[in-house]
Amino acid sequence: MQNALALEFEQRRNPHPLSPSERAAILDDPGFGTNFTDHMAVATWTQADGWHDSAVVPYGPFAIDPATAVLHYAQEVFEGLKAYRHPDGSVWLFRADRNADRFARSAARLALPVLAPADFLGSIEGLVAADLDWVPSGGEKSLYLRPFMFASEAFLGVRAAHRVTYCCIASPAGSYFASGVKPVKIWISTTYTRAASGGTGAAKCGGNYAASLIAQQEAAEHGCDQVMFADAAEHTWLEELGGMNVYLITTDGELITPELTGSILEGVTRDSILTLASEWGLNPVERRISVAETLDGLRSGRISEVFACGTAAVITPIASLHNDEGDVVVGSGEAGEVTSALRTALMDIQYGRAEDRHNWLRQIA
Ligand SMILES: *Cc1c(COP(=O)(O)O)cnc(C)c1O
Repeated sequence: MQNALALEFEQRRNPHPLSPSERAAILDDPGFGTNFTDHMAVATWTQADGWHDSAVVPYGPFAIDPATAVLHYAQEVFEGLKAYRHPDGSVWLFRADRNADRFARSAARLALPVLAPADFLGSIEGLVAADLDWVPSGGEKSLYLRPFMFASEAFLGVRAAHRVTYCCIASPAGSYFASGVKPVKIWISTTYTRAASGGTGAAKCGGNYAASLIAQQEAAEHGCDQVMFADAAEHTWLEELGGMNVYLITTDGELITPELTGSILEGVTRDSILTLASEWGLNPVERRISVAETLDGLRSGRISEVFACGTAAVITPIASLHNDEGDVVVGSGEAGEVTSALRTALMDIQYGRAEDRHNWLRQIA
């Protein structure tokens, strides 16, 4: 059921916010995903009444009945985006309409009710307005926003829940890399896959992440930082990392990313890079690319750089690829020149240091 009227996210202020000095200490060195602001946005959906009870409320735990459906059947979706403070103090979102639309598509795939994109954006604006002092400034810092929705009905029958909770929390984030951008080692798993045709790979849902954790452990056992998944049917075609899309750069200026086949998540960062590529004199190519072609290209030198991309870490250079047959170093094993330039170009737009030619930014404060 879709409500015709926009939801209101009225502020119910936290009577016990952190003190300015406590907050300043966190913003000084926020880390990632461990500190949360004073408020959260919430809304409830029921089959009978649609979306209602929306508000910005003090941050705090949910009371969860042990029979709550999400704990048993994982009916849940989420998003991840950031609020950036510009040098003049204003606060902006980057392509948040894309996150709003993807949240709606993810929800539909998981048989969850759709939250109208305007309400998704309204919840974020309401939350950031309440916690404006939590948006850090400078460097590579931001306020990471985590909207999510889950089956909150207490019922063990297997069907789409009749009660659903939406929430958005916010967490100040520092530079993803504590000491400069560090290229990562990638394990290409042939034991595990993350998503199959007809499955949930194109939806941003917790279940995909749960399925990827064991492969992440396999990567760690091989001395790698992250895992690269291949397609489920043939274990032949490159797909993506557990939470980031992937790009290859060739010496003749092609910027190649696996095409969206239904089992790859359509990243906002991936799409932004496709758009920026031509401005950089690179030729963006979306196509199937096999693991074998990738390894051969690295050995012959035709592929000069490889990187992963996503909102949290922006662009992460890949130092080497590893599989059962051995290792291949990417270029010199250091962050590639084009990779570094793309990372800077994208962040310059997000932080207001470069012109926003594509109208990607939306001011919220
Ligand atoms: C979120 C996510 C990405 C990156 O998407 P962005 O919109 O760029 O942050 C890539 N792959 C998976 C599986 C993801 O969940």
